[in-house]
Amino acid sequence: MALHWNLSEIKNSDSVCWIKDGDKSHMNPTTETLIWATMIVGLPSISEKDAQEFYWRLRFYEQTQGALRNKWKSEGSDDVEPVYFTADEVRAHIGLGTNASRETRAAWVKRMTQHIDRAVKREWNASPICDGCGKRSSTVEDAGGRVDDGADGLGFCAACRNGGAA
Ligand SMILES: [Zn+2]
Repeated sequence: MALHWNLSEIKNSDSVCWIKDGDKSHMNPTTETLIWATMIVGLPSISEKDAQEFYWRLRFYEQTQGALRNKWKSEGSDDVEPVYFTADEVRAHIGLGTNASRETRAAWVKRMTQHIDRAVKREWNASPICDGCGKRSSTVEDAGGRVDDGADGLGFCAACRNGGAA
């Protein structure tokens, strides 16, 4: 499904949603992210009625999955830091609409917990057993210097590799 959006109902949309760049203008990255966020939060619009719920889900998502936006820590730096949405940013975009599907909060929260369930199962089972201490650890490496796949013989966790008692 192609995502269609409409910004014309947003108050002062010319200045809220667009950044002037010489003769041209480009979409404010915050607006762009909120358009995609309608699919993430399961609400097709930031209506007057849904705006607070929209922010609630956005906040839930960013707190559990990480910020949707990042910024450079400083000029010329390769490091980025997360930028979390604020209530004011969402409020400024009341009127934004897309063709995303609507989910109830209960259905949406269930979908979010399923994401975490799957991620945790994957991470948990990805931790191999150390041949030194017998514990599961994500730091187990075999002789090939990578996560133990059993192909290079024994694998040891970081504590055992460093000779410490694990
Ligand atoms: Zn160990």
